[in-house]
Amino acid sequence: MKLPKEIREKGDLSATANKGKNCSIKGCVDKAIRSLSENSWKSYVEKADLKYYDNKHHKIYLCKTHYKEANKYRKSQDKLYQKKGFLENSTTVSRSKNWD
Ligand SMILES: [Zn+2]
Repeated sequence: MKLPKEIREKGDLSATANKGKNCSIKGCVDKAIRSLSENSWKSYVEKADLKYYDNKHHKIYLCKTHYKEANKYRKSQDKLYQKKGFLENSTTVSRSKNWD
């Protein structure tokens, strides 16, 4: 029977509607692999020099390529924090060296 199959496919489509989003980056037609909160990712996406279409869900949908791009900036900021911590540690170390 063809009809039930069609209905099922339709149901599948609506069930996977979230996963079937396209990338939010302007000019990109790839399928999104990530749905990210606009609040926490906006700055990374902008730092990566990417323009995106905002939506009412306040989500940024990114394809594999653009997710990598934005994630690079997210990671570099994480590193910055780590570096800061590392610097504080090394200051402590050098200070204790001075004491010696
Ligand atoms: Zn994209």
